[in-house]
Amino acid sequence: MNRSTRHFAIAALTTFVLVGVFGYASADASVSTNTAPQVSGTEGASPIEKANQATAESEKSTCETTVDRVVRTQNRSRLKGFCNRVSRLPTCSSTEGRPIQHADNGSVDARGKRILVLGMIHGDEPLAGEMALEWAERLQALGSHRNAWRVVPMLNPDGLERNTRMNAQGVDLNRNFPTKDWDHEALTFWNKTAKKDPRRFPGEKPASEVETKCIISHIKDFKPDFIVSVHTPYKVLDFDGPKMGFPAYKDLPWRALGNFPGSLGRYMWKDYQIPVLTVELGNTMVDAAKLQDIVGTFAIEAARRSGQKTAGMFEHM
Ligand SMILES: [Zn+2]
Repeated sequence: MNRSTRHFAIAALTTFVLVGVFGYASADASVSTNTAPQVSGTEGASPIEKANQATAESEKSTCETTVDRVVRTQNRSRLKGFCNRVSRLPTCSSTEGRPIQHADNGSVDARGKRILVLGMIHGDEPLAGEMALEWAERLQALGSHRNAWRVVPMLNPDGLERNTRMNAQGVDLNRNFPTKDWDHEALTFWNKTAKKDPRRFPGEKPASEVETKCIISHIKDFKPDFIVSVHTPYKVLDFDGPKMGFPAYKDLPWRALGNFPGSLGRYMWKDYQIPVLTVELGNTMVDAAKLQDIVGTFAIEAARRSGQKTAGMFEHM
């Protein structure tokens, strides 16, 4: 259990004790798994317990504000369910200090794989965040499922705030991953091939950005077998992974867009043989449940073909 998760667990336990001893919760209070329910009093709690509960409530409220910015009106209240059970790794704050939260939905199926979902690496692609939230909430509703999933739906909150692809420092996070070729190629590629497009600036150094560091922390912490990165608006499925057949899916055709110095696909697949599926939604939502099932099945086969990973590999990233 990492520090932040423990933090939430303590807060939840505190609330549980409070509710049990003092009977604060009314009969219809909705008690979530990880986060404190909305109890009004904290009398009898120690200062540490009160602080933990205040932290949990503040994380929840920040999460809800972000969901309001990302999600279309009709889906907001439903997808805010995500905020009842969010956690945060210690490294996961944006340049301007906004939290980058995640939720886990584990699996008891030994054949299941570990799938890490990254949403909104680009801040101006809110539909990608909404899709990631749809998946997280569907897993929660399903209860049991084949694969273990971690969903980090809103990775670039400063970009979201500005409605920019880049983070607050003007860096394209999807060119900032420390690929083995970064030092030799990332800035040259940007100068020549990308013609200094500010939307594709890779940063001055590999993994210079705190948001990139947050993603790497998730990779080391969760040790995924398969990564899904959700974007808009190119309306394709783009795969960096072993050679294999693609399942039929007419809403988003499979098409190789290639990967770039500093991109997630090059970092994870080329350098570490962890397959990456880039879901590029169009400007409209697709059937989230159907796509998630296709992705889950595809991930199992892709992980099998890409071979066994050692835990030590993640230590050296
Ligand atoms: Zn994008």
